[in-house]
Amino acid sequence: MQHQTEAHVFIFPLPLQGPVNCMLKLAEILSLHRIKVTFLNTDYIHQRLIRHTDALIRFRSYPNFRFLTVPDGLPEENPRTGAEVGNLLESMDASAVPIFREMLLTAETPVTCLIADGIFTFATDVAAEIGAALLYFDTVSPCGFWTYLCLPKLIETGEVPFKDDNLDEMITNAPGMEGIIRRRDLPSFCRTNDINDRIIQLVLREGEHIPLAQGLIFNTFHHLEAPILAQLRTICPNIYALGPLHAHLKARLASQEARPTTSNSIWEEDGSCVSWLDQQPSKSVVYVSIGSLAVMTRDQMCEIWHGLVNSGVRFLWVRRPGSVTGYSDETGIPSPEELTQGTEERGCIVRWAPQEEVLAHPAVGGFLTHSGWNSTLESMVEGKPMICWPNFVDQQVNSRYVEAVWKVGLDMKDSCDRIVVEKMVREVMESRKDEFLKGAEVVAESARAAVNPGGSSFEDMDRLIEEIKTMKIATK
Ligand code: UDP
Repeated sequence: MQHQTEAHVFIFPLPLQGPVNCMLKLAEILSLHRIKVTFLNTDYIHQRLIRHTDALIRFRSYPNFRFLTVPDGLPEENPRTGAEVGNLLESMDASAVPIFREMLLTAETPVTCLIADGIFTFATDVAAEIGAALLYFDTVSPCGFWTYLCLPKLIETGEVPFKDDNLDEMITNAPGMEGIIRRRDLPSFCRTNDINDRIIQLVLREGEHIPLAQGLIFNTFHHLEAPILAQLRTICPNIYALGPLHAHLKARLASQEARPTTSNSIWEEDGSCVSWLDQQPSKSVVYVSIGSLAVMTRDQMCEIWHGLVNSGVRFLWVRRPGSVTGYSDETGIPSPEELTQGTEERGCIVRWAPQEEVLAHPAVGGFLTHSGWNSTLESMVEGKPMICWPNFVDQQVNSRYVEAVWKVGLDMKDSCDRIVVEKMVREVMESRKDEFLKGAEVVAESARAAVNPGGSSFEDMDRLIEEIKTMKIATK
């Protein structure tokens, strides 16, 4: 039996910068279409959003939107870097999940649709309990996500764990990726001898729950990942490819003559780097960032630093507080003397940048990135070629696709050597600049077309909105 009720979407992202950013964009698009949205943040994320953005004020203009919060259970001083994600999920199980469940059971307006991060396997039971539709939204790349779903087969056929040290061996049991993916291009967690490893087990459990959802949402666009989306449809036929979501939101805000979108950063953005960019020639700067979770050793930092300075190319480098192991404050890291002059002449170093604005800046000609999915899409939309130094999860897959499939950059994976950095920076910014810029512009055009009226992501979003409006609570 079913009964009529107002549409109410409850969104629960994985409490990390990338997923929160991405799901807030989706939340804002749904709010623009007057759908009632509840967005659940952890206290840690929420406090930082309030401190560093205008998110509260921005969302106040949507009368049907509200934020709720839950504790993540980690001590305040936990760095919440990539290595802590397993601990974060474990502590949320105890501290956040019971409150989340209670929120749904007692919601004044019953929740008709739950949109939860794909890793939240507990969401299937809770959605069933309240009779709401469940849509899983995994904010990693679909190509990366597909390798997660292939993991049981890779284990069964003996491709994972790897039998020897040859990381260049091709992978044969990831359908649709034949001839593309080598062992080294599988997610970092596949480089283990122990399939009982906590992350492997989490990913396997995620794969079992994914088909239980009524639909899957992805931050991608049809043209970019059609073959992979076709593979994913064999697991869950109902897929919404809505990305790139940051550009999609901009397009919808522009068409509604609403105010411009602003940032969802959980660090304070240093806008001075934009003034610095204003002084640089067109496409002369390589932007360098490893996102919100990755860390590097001081040796790796020095290799990148030498490579950048030796390339002679201008650079804007984000050194997030806590991103160099052993240093809590990046300003305390001494600059090797031989690099001082080159850095002063051609470099700008900040703690956190307004990345979308930076990538859109005409002075930026390339991006040395950790290949996080949001960063990859943000770079693509602006037609900026990439040099990829992937760190973990889907990033190893993304960087491979950037070089071998989408042909919008170079994959530096598994190497952090000043000579390689210098060579790749020169290649992307100088010797093969035109070739990469041309390829990147083609991808950028198809990304922009996807999120405008008539485009595939625009149409998928309209379908999602219409379906959400008709979703009903299923009573037992
Ligand atoms: N970001 C930013 N300023 C910075 C570095 C990153 O605003 O200085 C944003 C970036 O625009 C992206 C997010 O942080 O939206 C990082 O997400 P991504 O998926 O690329 O990587 P993750 O941080 O999850 O590894």
